[in-house]
Amino acid sequence: MDVPFLDLPAQNAALRDEILSRWSDLVESAGFINGPSVAHFEAEFAAACGTNHVAAVSNGTDALRLAFNALGVKPGDEIVTVANTFIATVEAISHAGARPVLVDVRSDTYNMDPDFLDDAITSRTVGIVPVHLYGQTAEMDPILEIAGRHGLWVVEDAAQAHLAEYKGRRAGSMGVAAAFSFYPGKNLGACGDAGAVTTRDDALAARVRMLRDHGQAAKYHHEIEGYNNRCDATQAAALSVKLKHLPQWNEARRRNAARYFDNLRDVQGVTLPRIHPHCLSNFHLFVVLVEQRERVIEALHEAGIGTGLHYPIPIHLQKAYSRLGLREGSYPVAEAAARKLLSLPMFPELTFDQIDYVCRHLEKAISP
Ligand SMILES: *Cc1c(COP(=O)(O)O)cnc(C)c1O
Repeated sequence: MDVPFLDLPAQNAALRDEILSRWSDLVESAGFINGPSVAHFEAEFAAACGTNHVAAVSNGTDALRLAFNALGVKPGDEIVTVANTFIATVEAISHAGARPVLVDVRSDTYNMDPDFLDDAITSRTVGIVPVHLYGQTAEMDPILEIAGRHGLWVVEDAAQAHLAEYKGRRAGSMGVAAAFSFYPGKNLGACGDAGAVTTRDDALAARVRMLRDHGQAAKYHHEIEGYNNRCDATQAAALSVKLKHLPQWNEARRRNAARYFDNLRDVQGVTLPRIHPHCLSNFHLFVVLVEQRERVIEALHEAGIGTGLHYPIPIHLQKAYSRLGLREGSYPVAEAAARKLLSLPMFPELTFDQIDYVCRHLEKAISP
């Protein structure tokens, strides 16, 4: 049996005709930039996230940076985020001219540990960026409370959290703004790169819309210096087709996660993900901890099972961020997790037979 880590062609096959027909219209009208398909997707995604505004943009990394730009981030500012995330979270902070300040994560969810925030906040701190890692939202209530006490904004990195919930609130609706990625492998993925900024704030939304399109208030009236960070109409059209299926895809991922939990609950040597009762995860990833990871990966690959690592090197130990001057030992929880974490196959079309096969081989690899 072959079990890929992710099977995007399986998802695309069912939607191929609908996407191609939308693209055929765009080719005929040559309306590749802006236009109704972008505006339609923005309205649909805003409703799905339970927020007021969506500005579709070029990708998730730019979405984060545009949110920071729109909030007025300037050189010398500090922005607090976590040590274990995809590097884009931290790149976007640097791109906006701010200094990334890292905190460690909770040992159960690998999300931001709010207990470390007070110590990380200085007179230069302007905001906090919790990451809803693997599709589970961070502890937003304590994070928002601490931010409020210090007069800071919160921007959610919701790149992995489409339709995930925290106490009934959707990811992307809790901070002053949030950034989503529609990278093809995300729960809602484009047929290329795309992203979005969500916000309830009218002025902030207007500013992101200007910034993504050369700072234009109207054609050739450039109010501020901006960027070219628009979302292609072709991507927006594909995203509209896929968005209709997202709730049931997330439901299928949760069913698959439940199967993993049932199969692995009593297996010694596998630490299962911990989902808080007030969180509804979208299971973007299903990440377990194992000892002797290299051996386990090799055994799974030999059995035709794909795996991933999210993420094997914490931000502060990446060469690109050596200038932060942070050593091994700075964030012990993130570092310990990075050594043991292993992402198992997870996507909506995964079958129970495939999951059972993965679990059998995982169990065998752990206790040979
Ligand atoms: C994917 C991702 C991003 C970046 O999104 P792109 O669309 O690839 O630029 C940012 N943060 C996290 C946590 C991500 O997983």
